Amino acid sequence: MSEGNVRVRFAPSPTGYPHVGNIRTALFNWLFARHTGGKFIVRIEDTDVTRKVRGAVEAILDSLRWLGIDWDEGPEVGGDYAPYVQSERRDLYQKCAQQLLEGGHAYKCYCSSERLSQMRAEMAERKESMRTYDRRCRDLTQEERDKLEAQDITHVVRFKTPLEGTTSFNDLIKGDVTFDNCTLDDFILLKSDGYPTYHLANIVDDHLMQISHVLRADEWLSSTPRHILLYQALRYEPPEFAHLPMILGPDRAKLSKRHGATSIIEYRDRGYLPEAMVNFLALLGWALDDKTEIFSKEELVQYFSIERISKTSAIFNKDKLDWINGFYIRKDAVIEAPTAQASATALVPQMSSNFVERLSESLDRDLPTEVKRPISKEYVQQIAPLIYERLKKFGEAAELCKFFFIEPVPQTILPTDIPSEEKFGMPTIYPGDKLVYDAKLLLGKNLTKEAAMAGLEAALRRLQDVPFDASSLDLELRFLAGELGLKTGDFFGLLRVAVTGRTAAPPLFQTMAVLGRERCLRRVEAALGKLGLV
Ligand code: GLU
Repeated sequence: MSEGNVRVRFAPSPTGYPHVGNIRTALFNWLFARHTGGKFIVRIEDTDVTRKVRGAVEAILDSLRWLGIDWDEGPEVGGDYAPYVQSERRDLYQKCAQQLLEGGHAYKCYCSSERLSQMRAEMAERKESMRTYDRRCRDLTQEERDKLEAQDITHVVRFKTPLEGTTSFNDLIKGDVTFDNCTLDDFILLKSDGYPTYHLANIVDDHLMQISHVLRADEWLSSTPRHILLYQALRYEPPEFAHLPMILGPDRAKLSKRHGATSIIEYRDRGYLPEAMVNFLALLGWALDDKTEIFSKEELVQYFSIERISKTSAIFNKDKLDWINGFYIRKDAVIEAPTAQASATALVPQMSSNFVERLSESLDRDLPTEVKRPISKEYVQQIAPLIYERLKKFGEAAELCKFFFIEPVPQTILPTDIPSEEKFGMPTIYPGDKLVYDAKLLLGKNLTKEAAMAGLEAALRRLQDVPFDASSLDLELRFLAGELGLKTGDFFGLLRVAVTGRTAAPPLFQTMAVLGRERCLRRVEAALGKLGLV
């Protein structure tokens, strides 16, 4: 098959919201199509009516659109392509089932579900290896069939799997794979409701859509011999197969919710960037070499190949995702390198409007409702350069920036359940919408209550008339520390807690300049008031 004729598909079943594994499959197919100049198709495999989940199709398509995984064909709707949907193509599968029946490759099975359960129970009792069906209807005489038909008993159509021999295929990742036919059942092709099973609909569509390569999750490997047998029975040429490596959690267990394998949409809502997600997903089972971690989408398209897909399972590493996301956030954030002449404290890089836009959106979404809306873009623009370096995902922006919007509240008596863990790289002092902090934090490691109070009182006076830009604040407050006989580290730590309610925050003077005189004075005053009670 020449590469130009590549036709691949992503064929999700809408039985749930798409997770990392599903979308990794979509991405690999898309990359392969784009790399080879082939076509990428989306096909919704919704023939299992009982397992359909409401909203799943939308979630699948939203995820693809968010990541820029576009498809090239499908029924046209409003100048756009809709995905193919199997439930709308039922007659095609029924025709095919009929063809298989007529060719002697399939048969009607009239067994009731009660009979099947009983059969399975008996097999279990006899400790026979579990089969889903004992083939009772496989060899019915025409007379017996006619009788059953006359009784109007509902039936399913089953495939007449060869009883002996083997079925082999070459998997582009795993190599030669062989299954003994005796391990395969007479699986159902058409259900009693007239819907096809996955096996039938999947191969009919792969054939009709001229799919050249099937890249799909490892879990489908055991279905492939059934598909090959179907292709043979119908005299269709099978596509090439490539079963993608499993994705495991860091504990090497199958990836699950527990590992943070939530739906892709949730990652979007938590503030991950699509370019980071694409980069991360591409590395789940594919690598160019043993060192390159950052790939733009264009580079992935350029380099992607099935040969470089790994045989061994991929490990889902959330820290890596965060690291990649942080990389893209920073890459996008700054548009102008700070000039060398600018003084160290005035060194504020200019933020891209894209970054400011995304930051504003996330703050609007995540800041507590008490913060007035709309959130001022101008204010966000000033905050952005102070936090962008620490930001690993937009979902944590509100937590990082909270003190710019909410008054910190010093407390002397605190609830006992204060979590001590570090959250988002900053000690969480008290969770929730209020920015409550322990007034004792004002003392830092070295200050006495008296020294801290004297420090805050002096700061209060000095902050009334000092020019409120970062370099003036730096100069004046450094000076003041000297006058008070305090170490700058202790004094600045005191001020940091007073104005931000945190022990770790962005650069103090720039932060104060952005907060502005009025807010800073109010906060220092509040801190001083509580310090008296410590
Ligand atoms: N509908 C199957 C799924 O949900 C498709 C498997 C395949 O690609 O053949 O993953």
